[in-house]
Amino acid sequence: MFDIAVIGLGLVGSAALRHLALSDASVVGIGPGEPTDWSVNSGPFASHYDSGRVTRRLDARYEWAVLASRSIAQYPEIEAQSRLRFHRPGGFIFVRNDPIGIEQQQAVIERLDLPVVATTTDAVRDEFQDYEFPSQWTALYEPSPAGHIDPRVMVKAQLTVAHQLGASIHRKHVTTLQRTAGGFSIELSGGVAVQAARVLLATGAYLNDLAPEPLAAQVVPEAVILAAVSPAEATRLSYLPSMIYLLDHPIHDDVYIVPPVLYPDGVHYVKMGGSIGGVEPLATSAEKRTWMSGSDADDQIGWMRDVLLEVMPRATFEQFVMKPCLITDTPHGLPYIDEVADGLFVAVGGNGHAAKSSDAIGALGASLAINGTWTDPDLEALSFRAVFGEYEAPRDSRHGT
Ligand SMILES: Cc1cc2nc3c(=O)[nH]c(=O)nc-3n(C[C@H](O)[C@H](O)[C@H](O)COP(=O)(O)OP(=O)(O)OC[C@H]3O[C@@H](n4cnc5c(N)ncnc54)[C@H](O)[C@@H]3O)c2cc1C
Repeated sequence: MFDIAVIGLGLVGSAALRHLALSDASVVGIGPGEPTDWSVNSGPFASHYDSGRVTRRLDARYEWAVLASRSIAQYPEIEAQSRLRFHRPGGFIFVRNDPIGIEQQQAVIERLDLPVVATTTDAVRDEFQDYEFPSQWTALYEPSPAGHIDPRVMVKAQLTVAHQLGASIHRKHVTTLQRTAGGFSIELSGGVAVQAARVLLATGAYLNDLAPEPLAAQVVPEAVILAAVSPAEATRLSYLPSMIYLLDHPIHDDVYIVPPVLYPDGVHYVKMGGSIGGVEPLATSAEKRTWMSGSDADDQIGWMRDVLLEVMPRATFEQFVMKPCLITDTPHGLPYIDEVADGLFVAVGGNGHAAKSSDAIGALGASLAINGTWTDPDLEALSFRAVFGEYEAPRDSRHGT
């Protein structure tokens, strides 16, 4: 019988397990690793199966900026203890042309005194010659430690440290969760059962599979284009910061780029992600599986390659590969970190932002599961409250924050 079980060992769950393992509680983490062959995976997928994620403190939402700041401050310790490097502090640039969004970001920059330089795309053209942006747009530049992270390695690092600290880990998925007199009985794929007094759900896009009451959320398909570059070209482009660019496009809102990263297949890729305009949410696990295990993301290659070649016209790309992914949106645009039933807690709902901030989100989930009450001095519980029932979309675009 464990004191606390974490279900879902993605970015948030693995972080929560590390923070729980720092306490006196006996803890277990349960969640599958990345499938070797996505096309035949019968279990849940994840939103971190990639080697590049933008990391930044700059944000239009105070809460996201605080979560990112706290997490980035933890990166060196996690890297040192796990001996795994996942952070590349190469800087970050946000390119946009919408006064309201710029104002919102400026307000958070001032409130948190972030070292962000507000300038124009013309002014940064000389410094980042391999990026091409419209003239006279706003460019908000954030230096190191902003840059990018490798989410696959970050999950591994968190779990390595959690295990060093005494946490038990099962690389299986949970099929059923039942309340018992002493807490919960947790059935794993393969038939093993685990008992725990309390449970923290960190199941990402599968937030409603084990939740007692439906949480308001939408899971939307997102696509990534990976553009292969030679090792020499990867070195040449390595000076570039990661970036988000709010497009002036009739259908698609935004794209974000991570400069060349060496992927597990031994190839360096520039990675560009982008929100697919007008796409239908994925309501069932079967729909999520069809998107993640299939090739529907290939349909997005046209516009994504065009935008990438427009933004990086001087780069030499050798090949383009499309990858599917899942984004979990909540109505208030922040993760749910809350108790949804007696002894059952959630830390879910990344809204396309949680990779960089996953350590702080995991820490808040862990603290709530241990203490049973919200103890954070700066962030309000209300901001992260669980909302049940139907999903109502927030007004502004996801990456506009
Ligand atoms: C294309 C794309 C680009 C992105 N870019 C960025 C970026 O640049 N910067 C940024 O900060 N964020 C970015 N994000 C968002 C970020 O990746 C997510 O917010 C983050 O991965 C969410 O973490 P999570 O732990 O909630 O979910 P996940 O990382 O998906 O982990 C959830 C885990 O739960 C497991 N699980 C599900 N059901 C069960 C079950 N029944 N039993 C056991 N385990 C289960 C899953 O297998 C998975 O491992 C991006 C997301 C996408 C899709």
